[in-house]
Amino acid sequence: MPSDINIPSGDDTSSIGIESMSILEVEDIIKIYKTGKIETQALRGVSFKVLPREKLFLIGPSGSGKTTLVSIIAGMVKPSSGKVFWKGLAKDITRSSLEEIIKARRNFAGVIFQDSRLLPHLTVEENVELAGYYAKVQSHIIKERTEFLLQFLGIWDKRNKKQDTLSGGERKRAAIATTLITNPTIIIGDEPTGDLDVRTAESILDLFDKINEELGIAICIVTHSQQVAIRADRILELKDGIVLGQHSSQIHLRKLDKSRLLSVDRQSRLAIPKPILQKIDNPKHFSISIENKNIVLKPITDTNLFNNNTPSRTCMICGNLEKTKSNFCSNCGAVITQDSEN
Ligand code: ADP
Repeated sequence: MPSDINIPSGDDTSSIGIESMSILEVEDIIKIYKTGKIETQALRGVSFKVLPREKLFLIGPSGSGKTTLVSIIAGMVKPSSGKVFWKGLAKDITRSSLEEIIKARRNFAGVIFQDSRLLPHLTVEENVELAGYYAKVQSHIIKERTEFLLQFLGIWDKRNKKQDTLSGGERKRAAIATTLITNPTIIIGDEPTGDLDVRTAESILDLFDKINEELGIAICIVTHSQQVAIRADRILELKDGIVLGQHSSQIHLRKLDKSRLLSVDRQSRLAIPKPILQKIDNPKHFSISIENKNIVLKPITDTNLFNNNTPSRTCMICGNLEKTKSNFCSNCGAVITQDSEN
């Protein structure tokens, strides 16, 4: 590696505009798409953080909001509400101008999508250099860094070739080089290997590992692939626009129930996975209690929801189903103000 190329360590948080050690913070993101009179709630309050050098992958069924979320964290789509903080920008990007976002993104994020393309009339080397010029990297750095990256990514011998004479994997490596020319803190991607065959995808995934380990760049990508998911430090599972849970890298995408840790979000919501509810006949109501520091949810069927003449009321503080006439919750002592719903 040329000595004056400053590859970020990824853990310098001195210029971070947020309080913690994270490099990216997402708070309560809501995204509603409006098409005519139809509204689609793609994200319903998503919060998470990415740590320096972390490999965080986003999974979830089609339509769960993954593409919307990465587009928002990359500063390419504005959320309806919520905040996104990037390391190095003291301001919430959702309140920043397009100009501020483009400028900050140069140093912060390399964005790579499935159909990332090169300019067809330029060589690989020219494409990478052009990305550097657009990002206003100093010209003597561009030359050195382009050489370093093309060697690092294993395509130095393809530097004079144009897109149409490259294989899918070589094109992808070249596209990755264009995103790395600015020395980003994180790579953000949506299915970056989705268009490649299994073997080529594997070699690109090896490359993401190498970028993460040797250049200290964090990775945050969407994937449907088991191949990808086993390489993560942490996996966020989206479902219907919320974070259903988190997984460590020991997962099988078809057996997520075995590895899922449920997440309580910033609104204290905890989503119960549908298969679990189906196993106990889809109850709509639960009583909640704490036993030995465990939360115990007991399903209540509609027939025993109001099983005596005293109307039951749910304590808004602890969720206890209060069956006495008392105005105080017999579980936590809070004042009960609201009737339980049918
Ligand atoms: P995923 O990437 O998990 O498949 P998306 O983020 O693409 O999910 O979509 C989430 C939801 O938002 C889907 O119901 C989708 O139809 C809707 N959606 C996505 N983009 C748009 C758009 N531009 N206009 C209207 N609805 C959209």
